[in-house]
Amino acid sequence: MEFSWYWKQIVKVKEKFKELNLTHFCPNGIYRTAEGYKALVLNHEKVSWYREVWNRTIIPKHRFILWLAVLDRLQMKDRLFRFNTTTDYLCLICGSNRETREHVFFDCHLRSSCLRKIKSWLEWKTAASTTHKLLRWIAKARLSQFRKQVLMVALAAMIYQIWWCRNEALWNQKVYTANIIVQRIQFNVKYRIRSIMPNNVQLIERTWFEKL
Ligand SMILES: [Zn+2]
Repeated sequence: MEFSWYWKQIVKVKEKFKELNLTHFCPNGIYRTAEGYKALVLNHEKVSWYREVWNRTIIPKHRFILWLAVLDRLQMKDRLFRFNTTTDYLCLICGSNRETREHVFFDCHLRSSCLRKIKSWLEWKTAASTTHKLLRWIAKARLSQFRKQVLMVALAAMIYQIWWCRNEALWNQKVYTANIIVQRIQFNVKYRIRSIMPNNVQLIERTWFEKL
């Protein structure tokens, strides 16, 4: 009886593996159990942005917050409100909408304003605006690897700085303007990219970056 249960589970896992495109998780064609496990616990939608989120170019603490944001694991007031741990659910930044992931990282005026300024700063020509769509856009864009790296660092820095801004409002009662947040994002991008810029970046790309 027990044996047949285990057997069914093994078959299930085997079928699941067949559905997943494991090439994403096999660098140099070598399959590793840990990578296979990661593939297994993620669903298809998540797999499509997995590589971008875990891009090593991104500042590690930004990568972590981006990861939690796309998984909707950051503790929003809306969630605490639903679990009856708070009676106040309004966005700490604008004070006029329910604080949900969609609101803070999509339609809060601070976020839209920051994204507009960052897009213009990096000549980032896309109508995409949700974090998932921006990630997918970067993955598919016909841009050099270097440009993609700059966009990923900027996107992750934006999510991180918006979350930082929200926490400053929560813990220190300070509200920052979009201009201050954008300056912080720009500082992050310039510092990070300069410190990891590979030697093989084309001169035209290097010049573009230096002018930012
Ligand atoms: Zn808001």
